Amino acid sequence: MGGTFDPIHHGHLVAASEVAAVFDLDEVVFVPTGQPWQKSDRDVSPAEHRYLMTVIATASNPRFTVSRVDIDRPGQTYTIDTLRDLRAARPDAELFFITGADAMAQIVSWKDMDELWSLAHFVGVTRPGHVLNNLGRDDVSLLEVPALAISSTDCRERVEHDHPVWYLVPDGVVQYIAKHRLYRPVAMGAAESN
Ligand code: ATP
Ligand code: MG
Repeated sequence: MGGTFDPIHHGHLVAASEVAAVFDLDEVVFVPTGQPWQKSDRDVSPAEHRYLMTVIATASNPRFTVSRVDIDRPGQTYTIDTLRDLRAARPDAELFFITGADAMAQIVSWKDMDELWSLAHFVGVTRPGHVLNNLGRDDVSLLEVPALAISSTDCRERVEHDHPVWYLVPDGVVQYIAKHRLYRPVAMGAAESN
């Protein structure tokens, strides 16, 4: 399951858990993106923060792991590279790529689509506010997951405005965000004085 995970929230975790149960997966690998080219309109938090929050959020689940392939690869992240690297690390595994309805709709803009389909089975999951469709392909599975109307954007805005994110993200992630003062407005005057 790829994502910016800025921050990871319970919508991601519920989707991953549901797909793992329905498809009887041995492992769900969370892959935080490197440079997310589709999000160049905003500053994405440093990869190490996003990676560590993902580790914290998934640590208690024996089937959940986190991969550094995208954050350690220089340049922008393309899903084709993610899948090639995961394939190389697990030559015998059957790969599933888990994506929410909004990201599914963007697949058409992804590089090297045909090879994408040959590397992994795509599973699109429902997400409140977005329509899910299989892009006209039989080999894309669609799955309804428990609806959690949570987004990372909303979590960031809540922190910025001093609203709680308890129970939207795992407890350890709430504490990590506070410890590192992520998503806080830059103090007035700080930018000018440096
Ligand atoms: P942002 O608001 O910054 O875009 P996000 O909440 O969409 O963050 P991403 O890291 O962009 O989170 O998403 C990673 C993957 O998880 C995508 O495939 C996305 O569709 C899926 N996803 C995110 N939130 C949910 C949710 N609440 N329910 C189901 N899938 C989700
Ligand atoms: Mg998103």
